[in-house]
Amino acid sequence: MYDTNHLISRLSAASTGRGDAPFAHLPDGSVTSFGALFAGAERMAAALVQSGVRPGDRVAVQVAKTIEAIELYLGTVMAGAVFLPLNPAYTTPEVAYFLGDATPSVVVCDPARLDEISGIAGPATVMTLGADGRGTLRDLADQQDGFDAVARGPDDLAAILYTSGTTGRSKGAMLSHANLASNSETLRDYWQFTAADTLIHALPIFHTHGLFVATNVALLAGAQVVFLPGFDLDAILTAMPRATALMGVPTFYTRLLGDARLTKERAANMRLFISGSAPLLVDTHEEWQARTGHRILERYGMTETNMSTSNPYDGERRAGTVGFPLPGVEARVMDDDGVVAPGTIGVLHVRGSNVFQGYWQMPEKTAEELLPDGWFITGDLARIDADGYVSIVGREKDLIITGGFNVYPKEVESLIDDLPGVLESAVFGVPHPDFGEAVVAVVVASDPTLDVDAITGELAQQLARYKQPKQVIRIDALPRNTMGKVQKKALREEYAGLFAT
Ligand code: AMP
Repeated sequence: MYDTNHLISRLSAASTGRGDAPFAHLPDGSVTSFGALFAGAERMAAALVQSGVRPGDRVAVQVAKTIEAIELYLGTVMAGAVFLPLNPAYTTPEVAYFLGDATPSVVVCDPARLDEISGIAGPATVMTLGADGRGTLRDLADQQDGFDAVARGPDDLAAILYTSGTTGRSKGAMLSHANLASNSETLRDYWQFTAADTLIHALPIFHTHGLFVATNVALLAGAQVVFLPGFDLDAILTAMPRATALMGVPTFYTRLLGDARLTKERAANMRLFISGSAPLLVDTHEEWQARTGHRILERYGMTETNMSTSNPYDGERRAGTVGFPLPGVEARVMDDDGVVAPGTIGVLHVRGSNVFQGYWQMPEKTAEELLPDGWFITGDLARIDADGYVSIVGREKDLIITGGFNVYPKEVESLIDDLPGVLESAVFGVPHPDFGEAVVAVVVASDPTLDVDAITGELAQQLARYKQPKQVIRIDALPRNTMGKVQKKALREEYAGLFAT
């Protein structure tokens, strides 16, 4: 039934013949079995096809994290279509850009936003799926029977995930069936996931970490998940005694450390804590080991490449590093003269079956970053030491990562600059004890009566909350170098202590 669909045949293999086995433990206490999950995915696929979705079409999805949303992801791939998840926090103008660029044939949104999304969806069919798992898509799916997966090969697209660009425009990273299947299989084996595992799944599913790392690895292993709608300290601590693994961003770990209920006893059944998506502080690493007896395993990846490096399962997990290139992945650090000597900082390149197919409808941008011989220029600054451990030492671009989410300064700056009374602005990240980094804006006024406190309110209308500056500061002039470039580094240094505890 699924054999001819590269990704679905693999994701379903571990649970074939054990359809009654539990997959997801849901917040209401109910359990979704593997059989129920794939049957739900078939009904979603049938509903999409009935709504006009054809192989290769994009299905844009901006919904809450529910098990039905996972069924929709699997159903989209089963129907031979391309899954395009969007952060529920995106405002309607933000969503309009993605829909205009990706031209999906179906858009699935929260019932409460049906009118506003319908207004920007163009010719696409708009259906709903709510946080309670209900909606018009689910109603249509409930009327369907089984579905034979549409044949799709390793090079066909399974998903497009948007990753913002420093020049302001987001880019759609095209991921093939083989990109996703091969990377998740590698991670399952490297991290030794089996059907005996129970993974605490508290990550969002519109991002590579929660969707492809957590969900796909669990499915490929035939493992169970404690499926949480979001980060929930109490729920994670409650689940921990019967779970075996947690995947999180560094913020998860700092927040858990802030709770006295995190003890060695509570973590006794756990075998693996994984961190990624942003740098884990060495202090967090050490504090975690002292409190729980476990050494966090840090890995590194990005939307375009899935996961590229990981600290070892057996062997030394070195704090401050992201470990070794995964099996089948090559990594090199380059400067203008070529590959640098061990220990030298340069730009990290990676190559392997994990690397994406290019940016959606951006052949020039793709050619700049994806070299003809398969190397992808990550834009991250890194060094590889003599033992082969990779360390990410900074970002070539000025990306801000706050609570595991990426904020591109240019997008925020453009909106601030458009406000009346503003001459210019600069947005950058400073260390924050809870979020890793916090977004800060400095603004130069053209009108002396400019009220900088009102800027935050203005931005709230247009930007997802995590992108809004935590502080807006008025200054007389932006620091610039002789070439006229704004010195972000100087700003970061000057305001580094803003959120110090
Ligand atoms: P995204 O595409 O949203 O997954 O973001 C990818 C970026 O997150 C990478 O290019 C890195 O800059 C950063 N990143 C991911 N994992 C790590 C890590 N373990 N340490 C430092 N930075 C990381």
